[in-house]
Amino acid sequence: MTVVNKSIVIIGAGHAGLTLAREIRANCNTTTITIISREAIRGYYKPNLSKALSMHKAPDQLVMKQTETIAEELNATLLGRFTVIEINSGRKEVKGLLNDSEESSVMTIPYDSLVMATGASPIRLPIERDLTTPLLSINNLEDYETFRSRIEQKKKILIIGAGFVGCELASDLISSGYEVDIIDQCEWPLQRSMPEVMGTEIKKAMAEQGVNWHLGVTLLSVTKNEQGAMLGSLSDGTTIQIDEVVSAVGLIPNTRLARGAGVAVQRGIEVDAFSQTHQPDVYALGDCVEYQGVTLPFIAPATHAAKALAKTLTGTKTALALPALPVAVKIRACPTVVCPPLIKKGIWQVQGAGMNLEAHFINERGQLSGFALIGQCISKKTKLASECIPTLTPIVDINASREAVA
Ligand SMILES: Cc1cc2nc3c(=O)[nH]c(=O)nc-3n(C[C@H](O)[C@H](O)[C@H](O)COP(=O)(O)OP(=O)(O)OC[C@H]3O[C@@H](n4cnc5c(N)ncnc54)[C@H](O)[C@@H]3O)c2cc1C
Repeated sequence: MTVVNKSIVIIGAGHAGLTLAREIRANCNTTTITIISREAIRGYYKPNLSKALSMHKAPDQLVMKQTETIAEELNATLLGRFTVIEINSGRKEVKGLLNDSEESSVMTIPYDSLVMATGASPIRLPIERDLTTPLLSINNLEDYETFRSRIEQKKKILIIGAGFVGCELASDLISSGYEVDIIDQCEWPLQRSMPEVMGTEIKKAMAEQGVNWHLGVTLLSVTKNEQGAMLGSLSDGTTIQIDEVVSAVGLIPNTRLARGAGVAVQRGIEVDAFSQTHQPDVYALGDCVEYQGVTLPFIAPATHAAKALAKTLTGTKTALALPALPVAVKIRACPTVVCPPLIKKGIWQVQGAGMNLEAHFINERGQLSGFALIGQCISKKTKLASECIPTLTPIVDINASREAVA
């Protein structure tokens, strides 16, 4: 076990932040670890949020570990419901305040190494509406608690977005007896991750379960009529009656703190293979980062990054390598696995028939650079992942790369 006497502050207690803390502790029990989160710190697995309804799990049943257990197991200080408002990378300290407390109760926490694991926030579309409540979106357990209480006693749910999370939520809701409509401007579900023939099979399988698709159109407004019924108006002239709307149109990395600290940010916080930002002793990982312009908002990349960074922070500098990382999409009517190509130049080659399809994305160099599988073909996931080129190879030294560009 390594002996490192320094203070590591982690902003974020999602999968990235907590996995990092666990990995640091596996390597070293002498560092001081402080974990901060603007929500209450609870150990739950976010992917379960899009299947819990049909599994008859109430939100509190998704919590695997309470704050006290996490603090004890990690031998860490946990600051939940605490929002960081500023990072001073010169003085090496973060400033924040307990949610709902006065500006005068600002607390300052010093660090030797700072890790931003601040996640991403749901994109809000500018949809005209005359509702008093905001549209629902689900990105953490608190959002999920709100979602569950708002859909109680309701029947007809409209989901905006036929991507990963939108399809999963539609599957969960329809399997739980709700009436579900999905709207997306794309021509088929999961359009960024698979060819049309495959998306069409998913669409058909979910339609047979009862999902109503509205593809190639946008939602213009959500209003209430004189009888108090909620109505969604679509760009093709259709009006549908609904009880609740869930927006699942994607995420935008949380970068405000990083920008304020002078850390370089494009779409996400820029990091290199060591999860290092442009500021010394400031690192970042998870949904908030980008590697050369690419964001990877999934569990597996964050796990890989957390393992490598934990080694670096405890004395063994370790570069992150990201092999092909397929993701299972939780659609009951049609088992699905995707490993989307990052560079879209190339062609899809499809084999199989009906609902058992295998699609390979072949790049301009003739390499397998992504794939998608449905039905019985999902059993090929591990084999194809081993044949696929790595997801990406992050640059080795972020500051050197900046100087080269300048
Ligand atoms: C419904 C759903 C289903 C999913 N299913 C899958 C799946 O099947 N497979 C898969 O690979 N991925 C899935 N994902 C994506 C995956 O869950 C995420 O990529 C991952 O959980 C992100 O972890 P994170 O720690 O980077 O961010 P988050 O979990 O968002 O954590 C961010 C943390 O930062 C804190 N924070 C942010 N700003 C501040 C601040 N100013 N002060 C204090 N704290 C702050 C927040 O409080 C939070 O604790 C799913 C996502 C959703 C929403």
